[in-house]
Amino acid sequence: MAQARDHGGGVRSIEVPIPDNPLGHTLVYVVDTDRGPVLIDTGWDDPRSWTTLTDGLTACGTSVSEIHGIVITHHHPDHHGLSGAVREASGAWIAMHAADISVVRRTRSTRPETWLGYMAAKLTAAGAPEEHVAPLRTSGPRRLPGFSPALPDREIVPGELLDLPGRRLRAIWTPGHTPGHVCLHLEEAHPSQLPGHGRLFSGDHLLPEISPHIGLYEDPDDVTTADPLGDFLDSLERVARLGPAEVLPAHQYAFTDAPSRVRELLDHHEHRLTGLQSLLTTPLTPWQLAERMEWNRPWPDIPYSSRNIAVAEAEAHLRRLVKEGRAESVPGSDPVTYVAV
Ligand SMILES: [Zn+2]
Ligand SMILES: [Zn+2]
Repeated sequence: MAQARDHGGGVRSIEVPIPDNPLGHTLVYVVDTDRGPVLIDTGWDDPRSWTTLTDGLTACGTSVSEIHGIVITHHHPDHHGLSGAVREASGAWIAMHAADISVVRRTRSTRPETWLGYMAAKLTAAGAPEEHVAPLRTSGPRRLPGFSPALPDREIVPGELLDLPGRRLRAIWTPGHTPGHVCLHLEEAHPSQLPGHGRLFSGDHLLPEISPHIGLYEDPDDVTTADPLGDFLDSLERVARLGPAEVLPAHQYAFTDAPSRVRELLDHHEHRLTGLQSLLTTPLTPWQLAERMEWNRPWPDIPYSSRNIAVAEAEAHLRRLVKEGRAESVPGSDPVTYVAV
């Protein structure tokens, strides 16, 4: 049963399901413009998700063929998955930040075997045991999700208004969760006159109850320079300064008081960094640090793919500690270990 929720002022949302995922759904926003509806994100590429999206558009009094444009917060398949299908059905343009377009381009040109080899090398360098890495080298061809994402037609330029006739929607670059993540600030007054400055489509950057995954930017050309957690913390402060009256996130539900949610997340990460620094009294590899970090369940119970995500998160925190001068790598260690300063 398709549902569309009316947020007022020509903005509605559709809960597009993400199959077999605890997140449950992506909130796809439908923004009316003088040239027809524009979507913010599109949802996971799955037949049931597609049906929900198209039925939802019907419930909004429009149809997928009427879509004028697609604005993507970031390249992840629960946001960008259905973009190609919507473009095919409507002729809509697709817009994305250049840094995430690069990821899309790389994903499209990389064969899954090459990608698995890159993952294997990275996990080995992070200190993963051979029994964890071996399956990546030996398993045959398989279908990886999101391996041929749609190539966007337009770049989202940070700080600029998007070309949405009759609306004021400004791109706010919020790297961290991905290198090209953007939030979209609808600068018009809140339809119910809530205090604050307009409304913010926050993608995965700012969610009411979840702290988004901050790992590494999956870029084979990036050695150790990127600091995604540092980027994320800066991006949080950027959206707090906007002071939106309401936040319209891509998962869960709409909420108010962005600055206090930002404060919670900043405190959470500072608490985590301090805890990790205290674990580094003896030198640890990123893998060993991940084993000792607190997760939502004991390490032995964490499934294979989630361990890869966990070790990337451990590495992102290590890079931040190094940048802040609170930890350093041990010269000559292989795989590299880190110790508190
Ligand atoms: Zn995401
Ligand atoms: Zn997401």
